[in-house]
Amino acid sequence: MQKQSIIGLDKQELTELLTSWGQKTFHVKQIWQWIYFRGAKSFDEMTNLSKDLRQKLQENFTLSRPKIVAEQISKDKTHKWLLEFDDGERIEMVYIPESDRGAVCISTQVGCAMGCKFCHTGSQKLTRNLTAGEIVLQFMVARDTYGEWPSPTDETRYLSNIVVMGMGEPLQNEENVIKALNILSDGDGIAVSRRRITMSTCGIAPKICDVLEKTGVRLAVSLHASNDEIRNTLMPINKVYNIEQILKEAQKYQQKDGSRYITFEYLMLDGINDSTENAKELIELLKKHKIRATFNLIPFNPWPGCDFKPSTPQKVKAFADLLNKAGFAAPVRVARGQDILAACGQLKSAQK
Ligand code: SAH
Ligand code: SF4
Repeated sequence: MQKQSIIGLDKQELTELLTSWGQKTFHVKQIWQWIYFRGAKSFDEMTNLSKDLRQKLQENFTLSRPKIVAEQISKDKTHKWLLEFDDGERIEMVYIPESDRGAVCISTQVGCAMGCKFCHTGSQKLTRNLTAGEIVLQFMVARDTYGEWPSPTDETRYLSNIVVMGMGEPLQNEENVIKALNILSDGDGIAVSRRRITMSTCGIAPKICDVLEKTGVRLAVSLHASNDEIRNTLMPINKVYNIEQILKEAQKYQQKDGSRYITFEYLMLDGINDSTENAKELIELLKKHKIRATFNLIPFNPWPGCDFKPSTPQKVKAFADLLNKAGFAAPVRVARGQDILAACGQLKSAQK
């Protein structure tokens, strides 16, 4: 039988495991630190554990990473990994550096069932959910690559942020996502603070508040349209949960935690959703729901087989200006890693 990965077990599961082995539970903290603070790759390294316990761990578990099948670094230093898990399934991960820090963009599913028309991942059917361990392991691979073990402090680390914006819809795999985000943000280990983790969803309305309450991470919603008519044509899920339902949940979340701004991602698609009327409609919508929000205006990344075109820079600027005037920050995202097809939402394992 193939050994199970120990990565992805939470503290409670480790405690239960040690108890069932008749071991003292104070070892949980030690093991946790070896795995998630020091990034240990073998149980032999865990020198403050008894030989007996190390051997038991070794017999039952692995600390192995997914295989790095391919790696590319673009001109602007965006880094892309193609990772393969034990069953041969592959996902992509991207690191997007800013001047002195950067965000690792992680995936939650192999493929995606949501079928958004503009999304490369969405053109690939859902194969399976990733486990909590596989979600956490992605960030650990990035840390291995950049040598960020043991966990540097929040201020000095290069891999400072996590965005759940890779392949898949996190709220379709919420149990594993909750567990993974809680492991990633645990202060005794990897310790990426919850404020530096953003989860992006296409808007599975009834699950939004629950996941945010259980993880404390920030919310981004892929809105991409100023009314249901347009959104229905872009995102099939809008026929199940429409804009109104999503914004109600967003509002509810914000009322509980007044300090948090919500990010709305808005893909700029030429002639589809980028007119001044669309901008005005959007502003009305957010004012009506009293939501404090910032926008991310995302340049559309074309891919073969998709007919949408990116909006012209003039249209994007006019759109952003209107949002700004209405009091919403609306930075225009610079497309990163374009030469290696590495933008979030572009991810699709090349072999599929
Ligand atoms: N499923 C989640 C998270 C993954 S997608 C979601 O939909 O929010 C991450 C972001 O990339 C989303 O905002 C998505 O709409 C965007 N995206 C998808 N395809 C894109 C493309 N071709 N160009 C630019 N952004 C894209
Ligand atoms: Fe899935 Fe998000 Fe792509 Fe839509 S945009 S198909 S929800 S990954």
